[in-house]
Amino acid sequence: MKFAFLCQQKPGLSRQKIAVVGAGPAGLTAAGYLVCRGHEVDIYDKLPIPGGMMTFAIPKYRIPLDSIMEGVEELRDRFGVKLNLSTKVTCGERHDEGDELAVNTVDMLKLVENYDATLISTGTWRSRKLGIPGDDAKNVMSALEFLLDIHMEELGLRASHLGSFKKVVVIGGGLSAVDAAEESILKGASEVYLVYRRTIKEAPAGEYEIRRLSRLGVNWIELAAPKSVTIENGVARGVVFQRMKLGEPDESGRPRPIPVPGSEFEVEADIVAAAIGEIPTPPIASECGGIGKHVGKDGKIAVDKSFRIPGTNIFAAGDVVTGPSKIGQAVGQGLRAAKEIDRFLSVKVLVAR
Ligand SMILES: Cc1cc2nc3c(=O)[nH]c(=O)nc-3n(C[C@H](O)[C@H](O)[C@H](O)COP(=O)(O)OP(=O)(O)OC[C@H]3O[C@@H](n4cnc5c(N)ncnc54)[C@H](O)[C@@H]3O)c2cc1C
Repeated sequence: MKFAFLCQQKPGLSRQKIAVVGAGPAGLTAAGYLVCRGHEVDIYDKLPIPGGMMTFAIPKYRIPLDSIMEGVEELRDRFGVKLNLSTKVTCGERHDEGDELAVNTVDMLKLVENYDATLISTGTWRSRKLGIPGDDAKNVMSALEFLLDIHMEELGLRASHLGSFKKVVVIGGGLSAVDAAEESILKGASEVYLVYRRTIKEAPAGEYEIRRLSRLGVNWIELAAPKSVTIENGVARGVVFQRMKLGEPDESGRPRPIPVPGSEFEVEADIVAAAIGEIPTPPIASECGGIGKHVGKDGKIAVDKSFRIPGTNIFAAGDVVTGPSKIGQAVGQGLRAAKEIDRFLSVKVLVAR
């Protein structure tokens, strides 16, 4: 996977230094563009291996780690990009998924002070909770937590905390749900259920992916929403679902699921994985010298059309701006933001002359 695809080697130095916070597809692509424009780039990431969701959430058979690392090594060895891994950048206190792997912390405002420009590309590392009785049991988790655990073990970072499991219930119809269900099958689960509140036609992962999973042995249940988790001795033993029917379109434009009274049914589970959406996680969890006001209630960073937080030398791109999307979109955002950073820095140089 190539991130510096615009040049073969680094052109003369511009003496401008850029910090990239987040080594997912958006940050790595931006770094690749910026080094080809002669800038010096330092990357910061809270995880010990770069690649973001591509390394820690998406199964290896879809994106091999070697191909990500090839591009990262080229950035480091040929273009002098400095990788500060296991380093969480923060302004204010907040715990996001994967934070336990960070060993160092760096203050966001200090970073901004020390660099000519900073790009935030920290993605969506917090998952929505089910918000139903029993969802705080230890074996009820987000799909991201579930996938992170599996990846950490596969990457040799730590032993799995999941224990043995045979029955897995995954709730949701998006890419995270599909990956959690497929990994469950690959890990030897004998009964895997993928339960979605609308129909296969509305599932964000698409009909093709869900039919493929069904062929692998995943039980697809549509038009059902979780109502409560059944707990025995503090451990989740199953999920009670209620049947849904589809009503008029809601604010998302998709038909609204409406509960059907008296239609509850239970599915047994050793693990419940909720894949009902991830939330943007900017490294800004407070007022943060005035930049906190550019973070919306939904966690997204509000940038202008040049990907910049107005009036600052801070830029943002990828899922932390758009909310959960896809690799191609994050790459596109990273590239466009990098072009804007390059433009911003050349104007700065002209003004300084
Ligand atoms: C389970 C799952 C499956 C998916 N499957 C697909 C798929 O099949 N195809 C597809 O196109 N898309 C898929 N996606 C979506 C895709 O992975 C994302 O859209 C894409 O990775 C977003 O890129 P990004 O660079 O914005 O963020 P990310 O990839 O999330 O990278 C952000 C990086 O920032 C780091 N970070 C976060 N906070 C901090 C901090 N405070 N300090 C330092 N570093 C920080 C993280 O460690 C991470 O490395 C999937 C997503 C998930 C969750």
